[in-house]
Amino acid sequence: MSTGGRSSLKITAIRTGTGNCHIRQIASPQHLGTIRRRAGILLDREWTGPHPIYAYVIEHPEGLLLVDTGDTARKSDPGYMPGLNPFFRYCIDIRVAPEEEIGAQLTAMGIESRDLRQILMTHLHHDHTGGLRHFPHSRILVSAECLTAARRWRGLIGAVPRTWPTWFDPEPFAFSGPPVGPFARSALLTRDGSILAVETPGHMAGHVSILARSENLTYVLAGDLTYREDLLMADEVDGVTENPAQSLASQRAVKQLAQSEPTVLLPAHDPEATMRLASGVTMYPTAALAP
Ligand SMILES: [Zn+2]
Repeated sequence: MSTGGRSSLKITAIRTGTGNCHIRQIASPQHLGTIRRRAGILLDREWTGPHPIYAYVIEHPEGLLLVDTGDTARKSDPGYMPGLNPFFRYCIDIRVAPEEEIGAQLTAMGIESRDLRQILMTHLHHDHTGGLRHFPHSRILVSAECLTAARRWRGLIGAVPRTWPTWFDPEPFAFSGPPVGPFARSALLTRDGSILAVETPGHMAGHVSILARSENLTYVLAGDLTYREDLLMADEVDGVTENPAQSLASQRAVKQLAQSEPTVLLPAHDPEATMRLASGVTMYPTAALAP
């Protein structure tokens, strides 16, 4: 595989319903540690208003890739989520219509689930794994660290393994690729080196971001590295992060990369992501590709 490659590619955002959460979930005061950040979410009474839950399809010459799977209409079924967990009970309100699930929307686009070459999971939080059941025939990649953490904590850290399909047995990302900007290593996902995973831990153990480099832009499919670009630019860290210092370091690494190449940030829940995707709005307007 070559590295640093660029390719023609097309990214489409697919909104699989909406989530609403307490404001302290998306941004929490810098001086608070992990426990107090989470207590702050539980005690908060202010809501953000509905935000999108995106999965992203990448059409690449080597095949179709999907980043995250969004959420599921089953969220409304009694007993689907752990009822005793106060976070799920009081702090989030997720609305997904059956036709908003990723499977139905791909079908409407003329894509069958078996057409997808790879499903790339930024992390395994419940609102990213809701659509997994639509992809029994696809190759699914998750960081080994994220999978281990999700299994170990069984629903207590926002990943709910009991909702995963019984056949779910993902492959680990192989971080044997070269450094990318401030990232010490990468996992190459296409032969031309234009799509790769980099490690952006903090929000959840083993969280990754997917870099997709088109001929003139770099897209960062950032999962929950941040909930919104303006929060990332202000060095605000979310309230559910497992490690605030690590989250901040990951956010700053993406900012560093974005200063050296024109970069469009596509988090999973940012209401402005589709506008930036459609118009090619970059994080730092002065960043340019080397001639
Ligand atoms: Zn998350």
